[in-house]
Amino acid sequence: PTNLNTIADEYLRLSYHGLRAKDKSFNADFSLELDEGIPEISVIPQDIGRVLLNLINNAFYAVTERRKKEGEYGYKPMVTVGTKKMPNGIMLTVSDNGYGIPKDIQNKIFQPFFTTKPTGSGTGLGLSMSYDIVTKGHGGELKVNSKEGEGTTFTIVLPI
Ligand code: ADP
Ligand code: MG
Repeated sequence: PTNLNTIADEYLRLSYHGLRAKDKSFNADFSLELDEGIPEISVIPQDIGRVLLNLINNAFYAVTERRKKEGEYGYKPMVTVGTKKMPNGIMLTVSDNGYGIPKDIQNKIFQPFFTTKPTGSGTGLGLSMSYDIVTKGHGGELKVNSKEGEGTTFTIVLPI
């Protein structure tokens, strides 16, 4: 039995401090919106952690790239990780106000090796691996909702 709030908190910090350690100029706001009423559920914690790390790293990348385009003023990069108790599962969300995903590639992002990142900075495996861990590994769902130029939310639902 695992408390997903602990995992969410741990991996958001791990991602943030990891990115900062690699690049001193990295900066973005982040927040946790945790539902303290969620029950513990049976998951493989390292696997769900890896999924969160993928989603959170993608989110920080998207806000960082958007800030490079829009500059320091008027745009506040923000990544939010949330949990919420649902009638038949626990919902985990990773949201960002980054550059968003164009409609025509939203159905490709879960394919292995699909990446829009420059050579060397993305393998294109994060989301396909995450999808398998959530669906095949845990019987859950992983969905994306995104609007180009506004931001992206990935939603995981894990059965209780
Ligand atoms: P990688 O990060 O190595 O490119 P992923 O499988 O993690 O591979 O993601 C695949 C692609 O999905 C990314 O290259 C990007 O085009 C898109 N993507 C994923 N997450 C986001 C996000 N939060 N904002 C914008 N685009 C995203
Ligand atoms: Mg990735």
